[in-house]
Amino acid sequence: WNNFCSSVFILSQYTSSIRDVTFQNYLQNEVRPFIELIDSLRVIGIDKDLNLPSIAVVGDQSSGKSSVLEAISGVALPRGSGIVTRCPLELKLRKKEGKWEGKISYNGHSETFHDPLQVENLVRKAQDTLAGDGVGICHDLITLEISSPDVCDLTLIDLPGITRVPVKGQPDDIGDQIRSLILKYITKEETISLVVVPCNVDIATTEALKMAQEVDPHGSRTLAILTKPDLIDKGAEGDVLKIVQGKVIPLSKGYIIVRCRGQQDINDKISLTEAMQIEKDFFKKHRYFSSLLDEEKATVECLARKLTRDLVAHIKKSLPHLTDQVQSLLSQLQVELKKYKEGPPIDHKMMGPFLSQVIIAFSDQINELARTGESQHKNLFALLRPVFKQWDKYLKTSKLSFKEAVDGMISGYDDLHRGRELLTFSDYSSLESLVKKQVKALEEPAMETLKIIREIIQAEFKNICEMSFDNYPHLRYIVMTMIDDIQLKQEAQVETRIKEFIRMEQLVFTQDSILQQKLRSKLSLKEDLSDDDDDCISSSGCAALDTRSLIPEKIVLYYEIVYQRLSDYVPMLLQIFMLKDAAKMLRDQMMDLRDGANAMKLLSEGTERGRKRVELLQRLQRLKEAQSRICTTF
Ligand code: GDP
Ligand code: MG
Repeated sequence: WNNFCSSVFILSQYTSSIRDVTFQNYLQNEVRPFIELIDSLRVIGIDKDLNLPSIAVVGDQSSGKSSVLEAISGVALPRGSGIVTRCPLELKLRKKEGKWEGKISYNGHSETFHDPLQVENLVRKAQDTLAGDGVGICHDLITLEISSPDVCDLTLIDLPGITRVPVKGQPDDIGDQIRSLILKYITKEETISLVVVPCNVDIATTEALKMAQEVDPHGSRTLAILTKPDLIDKGAEGDVLKIVQGKVIPLSKGYIIVRCRGQQDINDKISLTEAMQIEKDFFKKHRYFSSLLDEEKATVECLARKLTRDLVAHIKKSLPHLTDQVQSLLSQLQVELKKYKEGPPIDHKMMGPFLSQVIIAFSDQINELARTGESQHKNLFALLRPVFKQWDKYLKTSKLSFKEAVDGMISGYDDLHRGRELLTFSDYSSLESLVKKQVKALEEPAMETLKIIREIIQAEFKNICEMSFDNYPHLRYIVMTMIDDIQLKQEAQVETRIKEFIRMEQLVFTQDSILQQKLRSKLSLKEDLSDDDDDCISSSGCAALDTRSLIPEKIVLYYEIVYQRLSDYVPMLLQIFMLKDAAKMLRDQMMDLRDGANAMKLLSEGTERGRKRVELLQRLQRLKEAQSRICTTF
């Protein structure tokens, strides 16, 4: 492998061969940019959105897939008899200056290591984790990324080998399971299929070759690799040669024959570098196959070159399709993104201004609600009105019952007091206590009204909060608590005020002129009563002097004033405290929140929607970057 890499990348070492020089130039100018493009697309994660060109290795069990991969990559993979590869293994080879580094990732787990000898164990461990300890298979992908100056940029996928007969412990349909897993990879137009077939079997009837032909009838992305040429039956070499030359099953990409390390070589601890030399010698000395060396149809080195070249050709061919895909994904994304509301910017520096914007928009809405009652469903004042009306109804009922109480008292009055008292003299204090009692009874419905109004306004505030901070659970929680606190505080204030009103009304007081006005209109006292007249009945006739008719009327009229005062003041008080002041308090607190805020924390999105939107935005960014990379490279 090292030889191969040197020949590919370090000009000085292989200047003896003209072909190597040309290949080197070819690599520098033609290959690297494409591989680098695909590599950079992979780095920005575009492979999450679309299929990037890659190479999948398929073949029967023990056909030598892992051995071929190992020879190309220089990385020792788990090998042996029976089912060894049980999960798809993505082998990402990345040429990078510096120390050898491996990184294995699967199922959210990721591990970096620096000893190439660990690969085998870590891959086994990963497979056991994903597919269990037994002999089952699994569709989950293991990704093994190798960064080293000695590899070239290639991504290869090792797949479980095809079996027909389940072994002990395997489900009956294991053959179908493996088939469908392989098909999943080789069906993709972006995949080059490396079909590995050992020379010592009946090549024409190999399952792997048949599958590849099914999904790629023209063989334009299928490359056949013949392994184990050292194990061919004596006398069968001529047939194998015919196959390699494409005379039996023609494939447009053709055949390559390789010799990898056999079990004995591994037992003898033959290194991969030594194995390459052995391979070269093997073909050079071979009676039938030596000619294949010149035809570039033999050795792993040749295979690696061909693969690189094929991959580039494949990338070139895929590019227009890739560009189209990026384009259509981009427009799809933009449509989808429109469905998701505005959200916080990805750039953290923009978080502060964005938070400010969100808070101001919310404050404006609260302000509008307090001013005009404008809200989403119905005008807020339209919601409050029936409650205020209900309060007014309470008062009216109270007025009627007061009148009844007064009448009752008057009719009993004569029985109780006449005889001792003179006509028109009456007990004012009993009337006064009647008013007090009646007014006191208003406290409960007033509190009830307060409670209902508070609930309505609080719900409206919360509704706006809900809509404004839909995507920010943290911020929403803080503002919800704020609304609750403010409403609680204001409710307590209003409660005190209402109690004050009730106490005030228990004074039984009004300015004379107000009562006079009432009396004048009610009793049709046409006489001109000046405002500062002390005695409103001084010039009235006898009827006006009748205690039984006048006193109750007067006191009932006074209660009318109580009714008017309370009917207006309670709703006014409620509007001021529960709506206007509460709105102002909320806005002030929002501004404080904005000024001292940890914008990132407040804007952290928790809802599925928020997550989805971030994901879409990231995809958008990736695709845009991919688009510009593809454009600038070509
Ligand atoms: P896989 O199941 O397709 O991945 O096959 P492996 O790569 O594990 O190879 C199966 C066996 O064949 C291993 O023991 C290898 O050492 C051996 N093998 C692979 N390639 C060759 C070869 O070219 N010559 C010989 N003699 N043995 C080979
Ligand atoms: Mg294998």
